[in-house]
Amino acid sequence: MLSVDAINVGYGDTQVLFDLSLDVAEGEVVAVVGSNGAGKTTMLKTLAGLLQPKSGTITFEGQDLTRSKAYDVVDHGLVYVPEGRRLFPRMSVRKNLELGAYSPHARAHRDEQLAFVYDLFPVLKEREGQLAGTLSGGQQQMCAIARGLMSRPRLLMLDEVSLGLAPVIVKRVYEAIAEVKNLGMTLLLVEQNVRLALSVADRGYVIQSGSVVLTGTGQELMANNNVRKAYLGL
Ligand code: ATP
Repeated sequence: MLSVDAINVGYGDTQVLFDLSLDVAEGEVVAVVGSNGAGKTTMLKTLAGLLQPKSGTITFEGQDLTRSKAYDVVDHGLVYVPEGRRLFPRMSVRKNLELGAYSPHARAHRDEQLAFVYDLFPVLKEREGQLAGTLSGGQQQMCAIARGLMSRPRLLMLDEVSLGLAPVIVKRVYEAIAEVKNLGMTLLLVEQNVRLALSVADRGYVIQSGSVVLTGTGQELMANNNVRKAYLGL
């Protein structure tokens, strides 16, 4: 479904991703893990059309999106939920969600999709009139994921959804991710919490200093000695 082939990406003269390649098949959950600064967010921003690769290609459902702008990428159904949630804090939860369905294709299914995300995260229904900026961190993260789902993505990319959340909230958010996975949604997860991401992923990639150093099924990576030492503290 998604094929990233040898992308090189940087900021000005500083190169961050080096010949990075990965694939995601339809219906798969793929985790990209690695430590702070490895280049995970840079990779997602590039896939989302917010950064342009210097070389390499990004193909999504047979279309070349390498040079596409962010609004085109979303229209193709490749949707990015950024680290730090980026909600509109002075708008209600419902308005934030409705803004997720701004494209004509999503707007036509807005009510149906709203019912789906309220079912996934009932707390958002309870708080639909509240300003998003006054939600707790966990609720804001749920709102950000739900806003991404409102656009009826073909592939949803989630950046560090566990960051800064209490363990009990992380568990709840990951239960929702597992539910979305069971519905057949294709997901690309970026996480510093390696154990968590690999536990839900079909496959994973380990990124170090902007390059893929290891790939395998979630279980293979969890059992890998280097991964266990470097990322799982075992
Ligand atoms: P984190 O989890 O900390 O976000 P990450 O794996 O997502 O880590 P990136 O955020 O992609 O890593 O950062 C990779 C490298 O790119 C880091 O060295 C970072 O300092 C650098 N970097 C990120 N954003 C910029 C920017 N806007 N300008 C210059 N360098 C940047």
